[in-house]
Amino acid sequence: MADCIFCRIVAGELPSTRVYEDDLVFAFEDINPQAPVHVVIVPKRHIATLNDLQPGDETTTGRLIHAAAWIARERNIAEPGYRTIFNVNRDGGQVVYHIHLHLLGGRKLKTPLA
Ligand code: 5GP
Ligand code: ZN
Repeated sequence: MADCIFCRIVAGELPSTRVYEDDLVFAFEDINPQAPVHVVIVPKRHIATLNDLQPGDETTTGRLIHAAAWIARERNIAEPGYRTIFNVNRDGGQVVYHIHLHLLGGRKLKTPLA
């Protein structure tokens, strides 16, 4: 999608600090980090929200989670712990309408989320 900023980041049309990439997903540093580690992991193919998932998308969405776990190990936050979040639509606080998994860590995160 030409007007989607995350599609443009995946395509290299907008700059980003790449953290991880494979055939299905792309991960980059969040531009406005909320924690010492704040990585955004996106599918390379445009999917607007979790509400738009179709049968057959399981491999892609599963890969997002595996990438998060791999990056967490690389950043040495696997053992102390971290948080992964999908925001969905208005009440969920979704701002960019291309699904993305937030990986947050490197400090004690507040609980609950709200
Ligand atoms: P959402 O609120 O949609 O779940 O999260 C969108 C995230 O994308 C935010 O944490 C925001 O800081 C990040 N973000 C938005 N635009 C850009 C950008 O152009 N580059 C990068 N690296 N991150 C972005
Ligand atoms: Zn997109």
